[in-house]
Amino acid sequence: MILVMGGAGYIGSHTVKYLLAHGQSCVVADNLSCGHREAVDERAGFMLADLADKDSLRKVFETYPIEAVIHFAAFTYVGESVRDPKKYYRNNVAGTLNLLDAMLEHDVKKIVFSSTCATYGEPLYTPIDEQHAQNPINPYGRTKLMIEQIFRDYAKAYGLKYIALRYFNAAGCSADGSIGESHDPETHLIPLVLQAIQGKRPDIKVFGTDYDTPDGTCIRDYIHVEDLAQAHWQAVQKLDDYSGYLNLGTGVGTSVMEIIKAAEKVSGKTCSVTLAARREGDPAKLFADNKKAKQVLNWNPVYTSVEDIVKTAWTWENNRRF
Ligand code: UDP
Repeated sequence: MILVMGGAGYIGSHTVKYLLAHGQSCVVADNLSCGHREAVDERAGFMLADLADKDSLRKVFETYPIEAVIHFAAFTYVGESVRDPKKYYRNNVAGTLNLLDAMLEHDVKKIVFSSTCATYGEPLYTPIDEQHAQNPINPYGRTKLMIEQIFRDYAKAYGLKYIALRYFNAAGCSADGSIGESHDPETHLIPLVLQAIQGKRPDIKVFGTDYDTPDGTCIRDYIHVEDLAQAHWQAVQKLDDYSGYLNLGTGVGTSVMEIIKAAEKVSGKTCSVTLAARREGDPAKLFADNKKAKQVLNWNPVYTSVEDIVKTAWTWENNRRF
């Protein structure tokens, strides 16, 4: 059985759904501080647990025959991590140490972890491969890098088997519209654009139009959440013979303006756009070299067009349950 720590969150809940669809039994542990109970498939087990509370973690391992852990539980707002780093180091780093303690106490030595392209910091070149230097420019990115480094030491000392998946921009929602993205506050581009189109927000503010890119707006690599889910399952199955770090992106860069155009096309409506100043800490271009993940995991992202990704997000925005 797989423990999905943080399985009530955006990427975690889609991964639970994917695991169940592939015949894998799993239990979700989540403190529901950011996640949604409704997002957890009814066929999965559920326990309230908090990374800060070791006893709550131990209880999960005592209750279920866990063989491997997929660990999503983390705070993920870059801006908040700058304003309140102790919250991030305490939860993301110290909390993961608690989880690793509980795992080792129960002789569970396999973990797949949500890392991020934010561990690279300002890119020196694109596409970014796994060899790219890691110099994160905010506390959030640093918490994730620290955990990657902890894994390497735990592998040597305690035989931990780990795969850290460095996501680029997770996007889209379950193709059947049953679950989707719901953050409070929402800061991500695609849901904000769609909500502006729906009139739930006055406009979308484009953060920076003077970047060194063809249309002047930032370029990102949007990877569908179900393709991320697929990679997690493949990573779990690979842990016996591989530990390491893998980029998860499509390898294709899309600008902010291109996302807005895709959203207008999908919805058949126009989006009110306001040009705004750059957001601090946003590099001009981030996109992945994903060859290693494809090769190691035999992973192949299904969604290669942002329009198809936006379409799934649009379905969710029109029928959200949470
Ligand atoms: N962005 C924007 N307006 C918004 C939110 C985001 O222009 O209201 C831009 C942001 O500057 C970045 C891209 O959209 O270039 C994706 O941002 P998001 O916050 O979705 O993800 P991030 O790249 O920060 O992980």
